[in-house]
Amino acid sequence: MKRQAIVVGAGPAGATAAFYLARAGIDVVMLDKESWPRDKPCGDGLRAPIWNLYKDMGVWDEVLEYSTPSKGVLLGAPNQTTIKLYGDVSPLCGPRRLIDHIVAKAAEREGAEFVQNFEVTELIIKRGFVKGVVGVYQGKLTKIESDVVVVADGSHSRLSHQLGLYNEDPDLVFYGARGYFEDIDEMTDLIEFFYNDMFYPTGYMWVFPMSKTKGNVGAFITEGALQRSGMRLEDLFGWWRDNTELGHKRLHKARLIGELKGWRLPACWGPRDNYANGALVAGDAGNMIEAAFGGGQDLAMLAGKDAAEVIVEALKTGDVSAKALSVYKDKLIKSQKEIYDGFNIARKLMFSDPNDLCEFVRLFKDRAESGELDYAQAVKQWVGIKMKAMQSK
Ligand SMILES: Cc1cc2nc3c(=O)[nH]c(=O)nc-3n(C[C@H](O)[C@H](O)[C@H](O)COP(=O)(O)OP(=O)(O)OC[C@H]3O[C@@H](n4cnc5c(N)ncnc54)[C@H](O)[C@@H]3O)c2cc1C
Repeated sequence: MKRQAIVVGAGPAGATAAFYLARAGIDVVMLDKESWPRDKPCGDGLRAPIWNLYKDMGVWDEVLEYSTPSKGVLLGAPNQTTIKLYGDVSPLCGPRRLIDHIVAKAAEREGAEFVQNFEVTELIIKRGFVKGVVGVYQGKLTKIESDVVVVADGSHSRLSHQLGLYNEDPDLVFYGARGYFEDIDEMTDLIEFFYNDMFYPTGYMWVFPMSKTKGNVGAFITEGALQRSGMRLEDLFGWWRDNTELGHKRLHKARLIGELKGWRLPACWGPRDNYANGALVAGDAGNMIEAAFGGGQDLAMLAGKDAAEVIVEALKTGDVSAKALSVYKDKLIKSQKEIYDGFNIARKLMFSDPNDLCEFVRLFKDRAESGELDYAQAVKQWVGIKMKAMQSK
């Protein structure tokens, strides 16, 4: 049977697209190669731009139930000084295995059909138009035709390769690894980022709290910096513990629960042309991660919603050509650009030169920690100082 829409991938991008397609009455099937609930290596940070989406999808209470709130951010500078910055829109920490399943189930409740263990191997392309997918399901090669496909198969996306939209720019591809650790010392109720010379131009170790002693600990680093370090991704954890004061403080008696998991993070500077005849690409498959902190769940979900809205309109007219679907980029500019711009400024003015963060800590530590300045105010003042210095050069 031919479907109106197929969504490939049930992660944040795909499940959100399927949810909003179903809500608009579109016949949609969401395919994922895994058995759910499935895990996804991540810092588990759920940032403020998607809180309203969770509310609109009716899953906010459930998300809160399974996540840990944080009260702000701790930044550790390369000279091993730290600053605590408080703020009321600080991320929640919600394990992806649980949170993604909550969103995927919401899509199903809304009316999307959810087929697990379906590994899509390629898009069906006829006369230059995507017309469905082929994949392996229950051991058989299976074909499903559709009017339109949302490609949301994540950062190793086979399908965006097929469409020629996969980006491999080494400056914009990061690597990340994550482990859950017990017995972390001096754990705060802040999400913590620790910068070290070796990780520049962009990258850090993180500790995100899950309880008073348990946390999600990870490494985020560019491909180039990792190569220069001569280490493997998983070696960074031991290196940080044994060679830095702050790493030692946090991890000296910590125990890894389970295994460290690494993954690829494809980033961009802002919305790109993620559309083709009969297809839209959303989330990591479309390189939507921001290049300062490596966050992408929020950008993936916003794109999933935008993709659904574009498709609903396109199906009304029957025109799913790339030209008709190109309004997707305009929508992404509205929903995502401000987020990218904020992170790009932060990356440029605070996180790409080790001296910047050391100076930021020195200037603002006392006022931030006495409650005189919150996160947003300190960053705003810092940006003002840097801009002035640049203009006077
Ligand atoms: C180590 C690390 C830490 C991170 N930390 C954060 C963070 O703290 N906060 C944040 O906002 N972002 C973070 N990110 C980024 C975030 O994880 C991604 O941006 C987000 O998962 C993107 O969602 P997605 O739906 O595009 O892809 P995914 O979540 O990867 O979902 C893709 C889905 O597609 C399925 N799939 C893949 N191939 C096929 C196929 N051929 N057929 C069928 N199904 C398929 C997969 O099984 C998967 O379920 C981090 C990333 C990494 C690697």
